[in-house]
Amino acid sequence: MDYTNLKNQDQAVFKTIEKEKKRQINEIELIASENYVSLAVLEAMGSVLTNKYSEGYPDHRYYGGNQIIDLVENIAIERAKKLFDAEHVNVQPLSGSPANAAVYFAFLKPGDKVMGLKLDHGGHLSHGHPINFSGMLYDFVQYEVDSKTEKIDMEAVRKLALKEKPKMIVAGYSAYSREIEWDKFKEIADEVGAFTFADIAHTAGLIVTKKMSNPVPFFDVVSTTTHKTLRGPRGAMIMCKERYAKQVDRAVFPGMQGGPHDHITAAKAVAFGEALKPEFAEYGEQVIKNAQTMAKEFKNRGYRVISDGTDNHLMVIDMTSKDIDGKTVEAVLEKCGISVSRSTIPNDPNPPMKPSGVRFGTPAITTRGMKEVEIKKVVEWIDKAIQNRDNKEVLKGIQIEVKDFSQKFPIPSA
Ligand SMILES: *Cc1c(COP(=O)(O)O)cnc(C)c1O
Repeated sequence: MDYTNLKNQDQAVFKTIEKEKKRQINEIELIASENYVSLAVLEAMGSVLTNKYSEGYPDHRYYGGNQIIDLVENIAIERAKKLFDAEHVNVQPLSGSPANAAVYFAFLKPGDKVMGLKLDHGGHLSHGHPINFSGMLYDFVQYEVDSKTEKIDMEAVRKLALKEKPKMIVAGYSAYSREIEWDKFKEIADEVGAFTFADIAHTAGLIVTKKMSNPVPFFDVVSTTTHKTLRGPRGAMIMCKERYAKQVDRAVFPGMQGGPHDHITAAKAVAFGEALKPEFAEYGEQVIKNAQTMAKEFKNRGYRVISDGTDNHLMVIDMTSKDIDGKTVEAVLEKCGISVSRSTIPNDPNPPMKPSGVRFGTPAITTRGMKEVEIKKVVEWIDKAIQNRDNKEVLKGIQIEVKDFSQKFPIPSA
């Protein structure tokens, strides 16, 4: 996009967008929750649909003039149903956290007991953290990963569920690199009479390519963001069994939100259309191959990979295996033009602001066309930067190499 009008009208904002575009072009993006949308998705987001108010749902709106918006929302819904084999879809949630708020609102009363994975074990703030609305409004009990395997131990989950008798069990995480045993979660939930809620914000794009298992056919309700591996606009959606359709829709609107963002709905439809294509399956496969190559490269260089590997697009590395903490690594890599996010590790001895780990992900660089050879190069730079963390010249040298390298892999929407 060339932003001609913006440039003529508002230099201040235009310049920041140009600068951010350059940063994206010149840097290596390894934040596991980020991706690059296509130009088509970007154009839909920048469309006149932003001018419309559409409170309600197709054929049941609280404003006139929504015949065309109905069409676009229905396209998004139909494509999402096909992608995930879903009975009912609500494409209006504004983002992942509001979608989760709507799910709780639809199925629970304040004070109800819910089971979710502990944040520092890979869970999300909206799965019961005390500083988040979820932890304030509901009585969360947290399960953990096994201290030895660093994977979820389903027998431990079962024991906790039998003891606590939650009304809902949440599975699906932000910093967990392993396949999730949805079927076992479902069995346990049935045993204690709990609702099953899967939050596939991170792995949705891998699930639609059938590289990871899909909870939608047998979970009661599933939420996902649309901007992570799914490579769509910033936003979210909720999928559920037909019998919960009404309560979920009511929880989103009028329960939680006002008017939907129709331009984003259009962009979601475009992204879902892209995800239905065979190229997207190839993309998903490459994302995982790249992550597995990255984990192996780190291990070869003596880094401790949490749970000893990955089945998806991300991994958490315990940086204390190199006598450094995650926050320092994040800052060192930033100087080299490599973006990562610090992360806690299970049972982290260090505080959350200066945790032991770093989370690395491959969705963004795979969109740029990077494959195994490039991944090896990237890990080499990361390792070199960590080893030479106090040497400004070496870090500067890496930054120049990273910039040259990155420019060879265009960003679709920049
Ligand atoms: C990213 C994420 C969310 C929140 O998404 P936002 O759009 O940032 O609100 C929710 N759940 C999980 C598991 C996530 O990883």
